[in-house]
Amino acid sequence: MAKKITIALVGRPNVGKSSLFNRLIKKRKAIVDATPGVTRDRLYGEMEWEGKTLTIIDTGGFLPPDEATPILPQVIIQCQKAIVEADVIIFMTDVRTGLTPIDVEIMKYLRKTQKPVLCAVNKVDGEKQLQDLSEFYALGVEKIWPISAIHGHGIYELIEEALTLVSAEETKEEKIPSMAIKVALVGRPNVGKSSLFNRLVGDERSVVSDIPGTTRDTIDTILKYDDKTYLFMDTAGLRRKTRIKTRLERYSVKRALKAIKHTDITLLLLEAPEGITDQDIKIINYAIACGKCILIVVNKWDLMPTTSKFKREYIENIRQRLRFASFLPVITVSALKGEGLKQIFAMLNTLYQEYTLRISTGQLNRFVEEIWGKYQPPLYQNRPIKLYYITQVDIKPPTFVIFTNYPQAIPENYKRFLVNQLHQLGFKYIPLKLLFRERR
Ligand code: GDP
Ligand code: GDP
Repeated sequence: MAKKITIALVGRPNVGKSSLFNRLIKKRKAIVDATPGVTRDRLYGEMEWEGKTLTIIDTGGFLPPDEATPILPQVIIQCQKAIVEADVIIFMTDVRTGLTPIDVEIMKYLRKTQKPVLCAVNKVDGEKQLQDLSEFYALGVEKIWPISAIHGHGIYELIEEALTLVSAEETKEEKIPSMAIKVALVGRPNVGKSSLFNRLVGDERSVVSDIPGTTRDTIDTILKYDDKTYLFMDTAGLRRKTRIKTRLERYSVKRALKAIKHTDITLLLLEAPEGITDQDIKIINYAIACGKCILIVVNKWDLMPTTSKFKREYIENIRQRLRFASFLPVITVSALKGEGLKQIFAMLNTLYQEYTLRISTGQLNRFVEEIWGKYQPPLYQNRPIKLYYITQVDIKPPTFVIFTNYPQAIPENYKRFLVNQLHQLGFKYIPLKLLFRERR
């Protein structure tokens, strides 16, 4: 029988823990923890989720508000046990009150527990509240999950992520440092994936370990290089000791797509003599659609003329094939000679920094005002289109929301113009996401 998964809801009073609890367990009855001698400080409920039974703990508490004790110790006392029992913690905050010092303290405490924590910002009932999310990143989390316990928004994604975290914890002997830069090394057969990968792991400066894969039945490789940790996904077929070349090695596109989906950066390997193919373009488009960073590496450069003019023109040719993605980085290497490896690591780092970069709302709005002064979209039904406000709502990929009176009327070329401008804020090499929301 599959292990039961327990999720604890933690947060200061009134953020909406019991509202979420009730929504999750629906009409099923909550079981009050009745351990003798213990304050009845936790509610347990069960829910079915795609064939699994999940236990939800509401640490909302029945402690009478105790004026004498500050809230923080009360919250912590209440959730201590729940945290021990939980496989994953949903830490809830409230967009309507905004981030409070107590939230920050609770988060600090949760960090020490070593359990996976998801940070949910509740009461995001509509678009208006989306504007206020950015302050919650001050909690130092990579991602926040906007939800509305009352309306049910965002709950599905939140629980899915919680389960993903639990299964990731279970399958990993060695935990992946949360800051690991996750890379999918893909490319057609014979471009040199295996040669390149063995060069990367064979470098004397790199420390390598195999771990069970992020996806079922695969092997990932953790590689530490210059104090940075990289996770190369699905690498069993690439490692020297496991490598068995079959004559008819099929390029498993499906496998590549899966790896792309689960990683931050797609390292697409080409070989210089053949250049970029339609298949490669498809891979790139897929990775962009998934919001991933892409690094194009042209291997076997040792076979090409050595002049810098040739190199310039060669890369220019690739860029032309990329059309709207001409910002993608392209570097040349030789796995055979071990040339260009440092460049690869340097670029992976740059990409990841951009991928996780946050621009303050103030800076963004000054920026939009400035470009607004230069170039405005055409009238829509004789009315001016206005851009009221812009905010960054997410990273990986950096995602921006612009509030406007006519989201549907903004021409494609103007959207592209805006995205191009956003690239100049420090996103040189990566795809960005720009969304438009209506506000009159
Ligand atoms: P707890 O103390 O953390 O368990 O919080 P409750 O679940 O008791 O909720 C506190 C208050 O916030 C109640 O008045 C709820 O109706 C309200 N609330 C909870 N979730 C939402 C939500 O998604 N949107 C809004 N607008 N209010 C909510
Ligand atoms: P994979 O199928 O993508 O894993 O490709 P392999 O790593 O097996 O390499 C395919 C062939 O290309 C092998 O014969 C390699 O020796 C050769 N190869 C790989 N990298 C280079 C390189 O940088 N230069 C040259 N000239 N040959 C290379």
